[in-house]
Amino acid sequence: MHLPPLGTGWIEVICGPMFSGKTEELIRRLRRAQIARQNVLVFKPAVDSRYDKEKIVSHSSLELDSVVVSKAGDILAKAGRNVHVVGIDEVQFFGPGVVDVCKKLARRGVRVVVAGLDQDYLGRPFGPVPELLAEAEYIDKTLAICVKCGNPANRSQRKRRSSKRVLIGASDSYEARCRRCHRPGPR
Ligand code: ADP
Ligand code: ZN
Repeated sequence: MHLPPLGTGWIEVICGPMFSGKTEELIRRLRRAQIARQNVLVFKPAVDSRYDKEKIVSHSSLELDSVVVSKAGDILAKAGRNVHVVGIDEVQFFGPGVVDVCKKLARRGVRVVVAGLDQDYLGRPFGPVPELLAEAEYIDKTLAICVKCGNPANRSQRKRRSSKRVLIGASDSYEARCRRCHRPGPR
């Protein structure tokens, strides 16, 4: 990002498969904002029960305090007028209403940084993320490393047998795979 907008907020999206460093990158950006003495608020959806409840935690154990919310509207209610930066992790788990929440915050002058999966375990666009990509000023796609072949990986391979779209888990349930090595079913 070279020229941040003046006098308005904006939306940044960090998206990619599991293990690609989305949470690490989100934490890096938010920590730098904190170092600049900006008021930073971080949210995550209640559905994400992995690791610590009141923190966002990366697979490499970086962490940042967060506020757990059960629906997107709660973010607007909790982000006061003095907030400069709002971070949202696991944004794919929110409903379509999260797009409007991000737009309202950006209109208010807030820098909004969201991180989430762009694809589900079958490679289909995930929840509100496609629309957020259309709305965002800045987009970064992070890639993991394919555990089969070492190529850059943009897919999350489900290892357990379940056809539920949301199956919470980490390396017990998912692994990073490239386009060539990804399979729709568990294997
Ligand atoms: P995400 O939020 O995208 O799931 P995290 O930021 O939580 O990713 O974790 C990224 C970290 O995961 C990496 O820095 C690395 O330590 C670890 N990791 C584990 N498996 C892989 C993999 N297959 N490819 C890349 N990083 C991996
Ligand atoms: Zn591969």
